[in-house]
Amino acid sequence: MSAGNEMVRKAIGKWGRTTHAHFGWRIEQDVIDLGGKHATCEMCERTRVRFVYIVSHPDHETLRVGCECGGWMIGDTERAQRDIKDMRRIAARKAREAKAKAEAERAAAERAARAEWPRDSVQREARMHAEVDARIAAERKAEIERKAATKAAAKAAAKAADEARRIATAPARAASDAASARARRKGATEHEAWQAGLRAYLKTAGPLNSAY
Ligand SMILES: [Zn+2]
Repeated sequence: MSAGNEMVRKAIGKWGRTTHAHFGWRIEQDVIDLGGKHATCEMCERTRVRFVYIVSHPDHETLRVGCECGGWMIGDTERAQRDIKDMRRIAARKAREAKAKAEAERAAAERAARAEWPRDSVQREARMHAEVDARIAAERKAEIERKAATKAAAKAAAKAADEARRIATAPARAASDAASARARRKGATEHEAWQAGLRAYLKTAGPLNSAY
């Protein structure tokens, strides 16, 4: 009760004036916790207070005063001291509870996040593997088709080229056969007949088709 005591002793605020009764007040509303020093005591008009009483007096309007001044005004400083102690204990307990609640909520949120994570991760990984597998399979299929198409095209082209050569060289081959036959009829050796055939072939086919 040092602050109240000091206010009374030093006659601070209303304690120093005769406009208001200093004693004979009663508590109109029990101690209130403002949650912080959010008000100025209306008796000493100086102390910033957190725990306040609303006090009344037959000759005055109600006042909102700190417990320390209030204790003197109601003539029960012990009650005021007890109220301050109780309110501090309650406030501390509320703060601990709020802290514990916040920590529990944070822990629950973390647990939930951990529980979510592996499932998401497994799904994501499985999806990724499936995508990679599908891409590899598609690439292999395309490669096989491309090779098959190339092979078929090459085969067809070779066949067409053979056919074209066969057609192109048909007159030369016919001329060659006829020349060889003529040479044989004239009594040429087989080698002479072959040479005669080759000459006829080259004459008819020209140098480009000489290989045939
Ligand atoms: Zn005061």
